Amino acid sequence: MEAIGKDVKRLKPGDIVAVDPALSCGRCDQCKNGREHTCLNQKFLGCPGQIEGCLSEYIVMPEHNCSPVPKNVNAEQAALIEPLSIGYYASQFLNGKKNIETIGILGAGPIGLSVLLSIRTMGHNKIFVTDKLDYRLLAAQKAGATWTANPEKHNVPAIVKDKSSRLLDVVFECCGKQEALDQAIDILKPGGTLLIVGIPGVDRVTFDISKIRRKEIAIQNVRRQNNSVQPAIDLTGSGKWLPDFMITHRFTAEKTQEAFETVANYEDNVIKAVIKF
Ligand SMILES: [Zn+2]
Repeated sequence: MEAIGKDVKRLKPGDIVAVDPALSCGRCDQCKNGREHTCLNQKFLGCPGQIEGCLSEYIVMPEHNCSPVPKNVNAEQAALIEPLSIGYYASQFLNGKKNIETIGILGAGPIGLSVLLSIRTMGHNKIFVTDKLDYRLLAAQKAGATWTANPEKHNVPAIVKDKSSRLLDVVFECCGKQEALDQAIDILKPGGTLLIVGIPGVDRVTFDISKIRRKEIAIQNVRRQNNSVQPAIDLTGSGKWLPDFMITHRFTAEKTQEAFETVANYEDNVIKAVIKF
């Protein structure tokens, strides 16, 4: 934080802040009812036509989107607050559900891993994680996954059935893939809940209506996060979760292109790359 506007109260120059890239209007029906994450006039940092990107030394953001972090949270950890807040928010959908024992997470990228860290802090310890990249499964194991499987190498439904004969209570879909949505339905128990966290790259996905009807599967979409930045900062500062392992690569601003290509192509066992200015 280099400088602040004259009406800014809770920030001061020199603060390290976690930035929420979603700007809400504060005036629409959704905002007024506490649902800023589904604001009807939302603009997103880095989206062409909304708010142009932040690959620059300085950007100007509203105070509302900047959360100062305590001294024991460093700048790299502050950069992780965005995915962590989404993982925290998604995990809050478990609250109020009874007898949740077995949980699946499909996709062990930064969002899936953030969900994993969050549900571990809630005490869940029967967690099944899948990903097509073995190195990410290894990261998930270190972060507390109970079982892991690679759907390209293993028969995931058979393994789930072996570990949990009644199948899974809840599945977090965190990769936005049709095949993962299909697999989620296969490994959920009747009456189970599918939480769709991943963002599909296509406009439409499909479900086997016979399967989801017979199992009476509940489907809940999860849109980014709401009111979860501060809890994510608090959990990071307290050491109740340890997210540092997600940052596998660091690039200078001059190497920005290489950073994007590394992540887009899943090169060199990358999970999360940061660009340092
Ligand atoms: Zn709004």
